[in-house]
Amino acid sequence: MTDRVSPKIRSAIMASVNSKNTGAELKVRDMLHRSGYRYRLHRHDLAGSPDIVFSRKRKAIFVHGCFWHGHGCRWGQLPKSRVDYWAPKIEANKRRDERNFADLRSIGWDAIVVWQCELREPEAILSKMVGFLEKDSFGEKQFHNRQQARNEKE
Ligand SMILES: [Zn+2]
Repeated sequence: MTDRVSPKIRSAIMASVNSKNTGAELKVRDMLHRSGYRYRLHRHDLAGSPDIVFSRKRKAIFVHGCFWHGHGCRWGQLPKSRVDYWAPKIEANKRRDERNFADLRSIGWDAIVVWQCELREPEAILSKMVGFLEKDSFGEKQFHNRQQARNEKE
């Protein structure tokens, strides 16, 4: 049993992961919606245009394809051929993702990534998302404290 993804599957993965509204993303949205959550999509005014946005909570969820965003799982491995071509691309994507997270944090937003491979265990991923959405986030507190401090000064 080899761990390598066939070229056909690889190209399907690559075709699906670099666009919005992927199957994975729709699945996540459906799960959240059925759990009673309401959200906005792809807010372009936020760093990285997060896929799923909870404005009042100041939280965002990115649904990432494992290959394109360089996940550490088996689907995130570089192809054996044309490594020189893929490695810098994936590296750049990872750096951009980190920058987006830092940017969101700096304005009091919290974000998590849902990886495509995690959708193989829907219950686990749903509880991860609910945990994230229900916890009183650091960013939220920071933001409100800052607002409060500002109000008190005025
Ligand atoms: Zn993965």
